[in-house]
Amino acid sequence: MNEKQEFGTRAIHAGQEPDPSTGAIMTPIYQTSTYVQESPGKNKGYSYARGKNPTRIALEKCIASLENAKHGLCFSSGQGAEDAIIKLLRPGDEVIATDDLYGGSYRMFTKIFEPFGITFRFVNMHDMAEMKKAINPKTKMIWVETPTNPVMKIIDIRACAAIANEHKLLLVVDNTFASPYLQNPLDLGAHIVTHSATKYLGGHSDVILGALCTNDDKLHEDLAFIANSCGAVPGPMDSFLVLRGLKTLHVRMDRHCINGKAVAEYLRAHPKVDKVYWPGFTDHPNHAVAKAQMKDFGGMISFTLKGNSKEEAFAMASRTKVFSLAESLGGVESLIGHPASMTHASIPKETREKAGVLDSLLRLSVGIEDVKDLLADLKQAIG
Ligand SMILES: *Cc1c(COP(=O)(O)O)cnc(C)c1O
Repeated sequence: MNEKQEFGTRAIHAGQEPDPSTGAIMTPIYQTSTYVQESPGKNKGYSYARGKNPTRIALEKCIASLENAKHGLCFSSGQGAEDAIIKLLRPGDEVIATDDLYGGSYRMFTKIFEPFGITFRFVNMHDMAEMKKAINPKTKMIWVETPTNPVMKIIDIRACAAIANEHKLLLVVDNTFASPYLQNPLDLGAHIVTHSATKYLGGHSDVILGALCTNDDKLHEDLAFIANSCGAVPGPMDSFLVLRGLKTLHVRMDRHCINGKAVAEYLRAHPKVDKVYWPGFTDHPNHAVAKAQMKDFGGMISFTLKGNSKEEAFAMASRTKVFSLAESLGGVESLIGHPASMTHASIPKETREKAGVLDSLLRLSVGIEDVKDLLADLKQAIG
């Protein structure tokens, strides 16, 4: 059968064959560092596990399939994948990046790569004119995150791809928040899509892992060379955990979306809540773009409290019982976080407030528990 199977079927089967030696239906955890050779250089395609591991390869193929990509590569974390992408660049090169980027990406770009001579320009990508103004002969890459973290801005991937192609730039999209179930950036014109598989792909808050995909053979070759040379590869156990998590991605995402919608609507109607950020609202500034490039709107929601009191936000975050106060997102369990003091603490106050990360902003990763319990928990916590 050559016709491409549907998403849920690929999530369960892509890249995975029954184990040839036993018929085990699940890809084994190949916990090995090296492979025996018949004679020097003569092997079964595997020589040393930094380069290749069968459990990792199954995962790479599965994620690539879900992103409609030709190639996939996995890393020991989302940051490891991002690190490899930036290492495609050279001193003097410039990157244009979304202005309310994930805090860890912002930190790596500014604290690790700027000292090596790479310049990052952070722009509001709602405004394509501002983005075009930032392009100069040194620009090599556009780095997009959408929906953004934590105020759920939606960036138009197709519009970014048009600009990238016009200026011969690489377009990279961090697809962590949407997951490949809701959005496939390569189909919209991106050259590389990157993931923190720690979040929705793994889905159970039990593993740190990263991935990237591309359709370009040369880019894949260069990125695989960087991965093997620099060594931020995931172990087989971690690869197995994400492979296992992926099998329910489509089912989990459907429930995240249903619960997310109910929570967003509940918060919006609450008298103590000021703004609610969720791309599914028809008056969200880029709702039309979200509708065009995403299948549904996800379970990530942020909101501010009337009066913008940090103390009240802290108190609420410590009163929730079903929502656990923790960093991260995308797991089956619901989480609540205070971006200004947690995920975005490394971003200067002025920069973060410009991006909407106010003192009372709270971020929810709405899990797949029964929604009745989630709403009751928020009700008692807001007071
Ligand atoms: C968590 C996250 C990352 C980093 O991934 P790790 O697996 O924690 O290294 C990158 N981008 C986004 C949007 C994230 O949420």
